[in-house]
Amino acid sequence: MANLSKRLETNIEGNFFVDSTCIDCDTCRQLAPETFIENGEYSTVFHQPGSAHEEFAAYQALIACPVGSIGTVTKDSEVFSEAQASFPMPVEDGVYYVGFNSEKSFGAHSYFIQHPEGNWLIDSPRYLKQLVQAFEKLGGIRYIFLSHEDDVAEATRYAKTFGATRIIHQADSSAMPDAEKFISGSDVVQVEREFACIPTPGHTAGSMVLLYKNRFLFSGDHLWWDRDLQQLGTPKNLVWDNTQLEQSVKKLLNSSFDWVLPGHGERMNLPTSEMKSTLEQLVKRRWPPTRL
Ligand code: SF4
Repeated sequence: MANLSKRLETNIEGNFFVDSTCIDCDTCRQLAPETFIENGEYSTVFHQPGSAHEEFAAYQALIACPVGSIGTVTKDSEVFSEAQASFPMPVEDGVYYVGFNSEKSFGAHSYFIQHPEGNWLIDSPRYLKQLVQAFEKLGGIRYIFLSHEDDVAEATRYAKTFGATRIIHQADSSAMPDAEKFISGSDVVQVEREFACIPTPGHTAGSMVLLYKNRFLFSGDHLWWDRDLQQLGTPKNLVWDNTQLEQSVKKLLNSSFDWVLPGHGERMNLPTSEMKSTLEQLVKRRWPPTRL
């Protein structure tokens, strides 16, 4: 729970505030950009919600915040409960953003896919009774796809609860040594008809992305939408191997997708051709051709 005595001075006066425990994970700024903004190494409230829609989004941010750094002077219990019940939040076509980001994965996003042949969880949120019940209602979890070693969070508890198969790349297996399925090497592995696990080493040795229906790319920390550039981005820091990262980004030029759903950073939906063009621009920007 956020602590009023730790309220950051940068917050504008009013009901919502961020305290000094914020880890600058960006989640609140994505969910409620009308209310939260980045200020130095923290998020802060720059505008108090001015409509029911903005208030609802601010409560969603408060709930999703991995470290409980967002608080209210006076809590509207009714709106809070409605916001809590809005997770997992539908994205499109049976794909959900789960919410309840976990501090164990530095606030990374996790996603859920409802599918007639078995549901998937992509990376892990906090383990909460409310989410267990929500997943039960949606039909349980058959697979848990782990994009890389940093974002496993509570995957083991969810796997035990639902008898799910955890999938991780062998090179990141130290984060989940008892996983049920390991991917090895660099070849694409089609786990089910519409689900392709694509090894994309770079950020870590065992980073992978999951391509679903040739539409939805669950990209972990390999690729995301950069809000400032309005372009796709890929890691510059915390890179295990830059050469491998370059090859892994270029490898995705062979795939078709119109959604990028990352662990960190913004999700984005663009027409497939536009998405491909932004990926090509990313490659040119990061790895410009050398002139002789
Ligand atoms: S969601 Fe919480 S931890 Fe993340 S930036 Fe916002 S206030 Fe900080």
